[in-house]
Amino acid sequence: MAKTKRGKVLWNMPSHGRGTCPVCGSTRIKLLYTQTKSDGTSIQVCKKCVKATQERVDDA
Ligand SMILES: [Zn+2]
Repeated sequence: MAKTKRGKVLWNMPSHGRGTCPVCGSTRIKLLYTQTKSDGTSIQVCKKCVKATQERVDDA
């Protein structure tokens, strides 16, 4: 399986896969994981927040 979270694939992504995590507010962190809010919208979060509770995701 191809690695999609490290290496050259990141350079094809907007901002090289980095940004500010909407859940924890970390800046210039890699946003490689998708979380889905209760209302159905999906957001990109960092690896710390892939395990965040639904409540924290909804707050973001
Ligand atoms: Zn985060």
